[in-house]
Amino acid sequence: MLQAIATPGSLAEAHAALSRLPDARLLAGGTALVPVLNYGTDDFTSLVSLRHVGLTGVNVKDGVVTIGAATTLAELEDERALAFLRAALDAIASPTIRNMATVGGNLFVKQPYGDFAACLIALGASAMVSNGTTARVEAIETVVSSGLKQGEIVTHVSFPLPEAGSFKFAKAGRKALNAAAIVTVAAVVETAAGRVTRVSIGLGGVAKSAVRAASVEKALSGNSFDRVSVERAAKEATRDIDPSDDAYASAWYRARVAPVHIRRALIGE
Ligand SMILES: Cc1cc2nc3c(=O)[nH]c(=O)nc-3n(C[C@H](O)[C@H](O)[C@H](O)COP(=O)(O)OP(=O)(O)OC[C@H]3O[C@@H](n4cnc5c(N)ncnc54)[C@H](O)[C@@H]3O)c2cc1C
Repeated sequence: MLQAIATPGSLAEAHAALSRLPDARLLAGGTALVPVLNYGTDDFTSLVSLRHVGLTGVNVKDGVVTIGAATTLAELEDERALAFLRAALDAIASPTIRNMATVGGNLFVKQPYGDFAACLIALGASAMVSNGTTARVEAIETVVSSGLKQGEIVTHVSFPLPEAGSFKFAKAGRKALNAAAIVTVAAVVETAAGRVTRVSIGLGGVAKSAVRAASVEKALSGNSFDRVSVERAAKEATRDIDPSDDAYASAWYRARVAPVHIRRALIGE
């Protein structure tokens, strides 16, 4: 049962609170954590809020985007440099949830949530992780698949701005708002003379965490960017995914449609 909530005013104070409260969970927007409390399935007795720690805001400098982990998804919608992410943001939850849900929190929500994490994988993003003494930089896919040690905090995520028009996104869900993913596909595809010069694909809804579709990327790199080539490469996704059954779709269905949604995201047909 919850017994303490710390509301630190700086990163140093947040780490001090985590040391003082060893079973504490970090509280960001609370959209995933508060339902756990409401259902009484929590296994922690204290929370450390990130609300006043100063980890908000978007900075774009020299083609690199840096986002504070406590920045809400709604705040990203207002950022002109991130206009390419608008369709992806619109596909996450609903405006009400996006007003609270944070970028950092989206890295740690259980699948089939975590659409923004899939976008960050596609963008080649890294996370800055602080343990109170030192900070390390980790690839987003490592953070989402391995999690953090107790006492660690993601402070920022950063990624290079993709070439104009190179970011692709598609999400299959059961309804428009508040729909968890059946399959989410985020990708950056750059081409020259009809051939793929760079491809990076993040998938959601099809594994324990958002994953990189490394086999698809390998099959597409250097090849023609056309339907035949994309369709062939997308079939390789079965090597990258490990879907589960849930109320939204069966594992069998997810595996079956993942290549279709990859093709649709990449070439729009
Ligand atoms: C009705 C509904 C619909 C939803 N639909 C979608 C959807 O369509 N797509 C989607 O992707 N998500 C969806 N979500 C999930 C929502 O986007 C995530 O819950 C949200 O991004 C989590 O962020 P938060 O700030 O609320 O995290 P919290 O609930 O505060 O925390 C979630 C977890 O992340 C940890 N955490 C948070 N910040 C940090 C940090 N900086 N460093 C380390 N650990 C941290 C917390 O300790 C906790 O374990 C939905 C949620 C709801 C309630």
